[in-house]
Amino acid sequence: MRKGAITRDAVLKAIAEYEQLGRSEFLAKHNFCEARSYVLLHEGREYDSKAIAGVAHKWDHGRALLPEEFSGGKDHAAAWLKRAGFHVKSVKNPDWARDEIILACHLVMTNGWKGLDANDPRVIELSGLLQLLPIHAEADRNEKFRNPNGAARKTFDIATRHPDYRGKPTKGGALDVEVLHEFLARPAEMTEVAQLIRQGITAGDLQALPLDDDEVLDDYSVPEGRLLMSRHKRRERNKGLRKKKIAAVLKKGGTLACEACGFDFEGVYGDRGSGYIECHHVVPLHEAGEGRTKLSDLALICANCHRMIHRCAPWPTPRELRTLIESRRGAVAHIPAQRNAEATEPASDQA
Ligand SMILES: [Zn+2]
Ligand SMILES: [Zn+2]
Repeated sequence: MRKGAITRDAVLKAIAEYEQLGRSEFLAKHNFCEARSYVLLHEGREYDSKAIAGVAHKWDHGRALLPEEFSGGKDHAAAWLKRAGFHVKSVKNPDWARDEIILACHLVMTNGWKGLDANDPRVIELSGLLQLLPIHAEADRNEKFRNPNGAARKTFDIATRHPDYRGKPTKGGALDVEVLHEFLARPAEMTEVAQLIRQGITAGDLQALPLDDDEVLDDYSVPEGRLLMSRHKRRERNKGLRKKKIAAVLKKGGTLACEACGFDFEGVYGDRGSGYIECHHVVPLHEAGEGRTKLSDLALICANCHRMIHRCAPWPTPRELRTLIESRRGAVAHIPAQRNAEATEPASDQA
């Protein structure tokens, strides 16, 4: 069965069954819990979207979908129901993303680390800006998404976590504290980050970015948030730029070896690896604003080293990574020598 291929008719039958049994019996019968992140709206009533979508499979595919058969993360049920022509709304707004907290934290900082009220013009402006960020899909937002009340509350969540605050902190989350500490540790850089996000959104430049999926970004540590990271990756993946960089290096008589570890794709993989190397944009995120990418901003880097650079912040330069690798190689070369010495000791005893 192809998951999610459900018809309007099947959904209506599932709704009818729900109405007939009542909510708790319907959920119990089909093993769904009372978790409602999205509700299906139909004729003025609200239904658990996942359970309805799952049960609708019964008519289209012969059996209902079990809760565990929904893939984790994003709620596909909402998308399926919409495709069948139904109205679905998100009940709870998505958690604040790092980019959003950066903008709020910057405002709190400029306000002397104090929270701001919902009627403050700066909070109203922030709320409008947050609603423009392309981070959360429209379907995941409800009518209160990042409204001035929510934005004001976040400024207090951040302000009451400041080390100098003497009182009980408001709720907030771990990410608020993380971003707050980023600001305290490197205020100038984080201010630039906040300004770059702001500019990028107002100018529409960051708006059109296809955001990388969470899986990829989970491997990376990006204190500067997803939006600037996506722009960074888009620059690195720009095929035209990569070609030019490679041509420039070859013209100077260089090779396409990794600037950090020396790995040469052609050397190892032969024709299959010929002409292959990745580009890393060496300008830090908080400095890389608008403007053209210069070839000198790009370093040739192998896929492994590239991952390792992005893995933890702050990102090492290719030269720094090279130094690290060389010092490790020195250490690694040293270990077998010691082991060999130990291994040969008994032999020398016998002699
Ligand atoms: Zn490398
Ligand atoms: Zn990179």
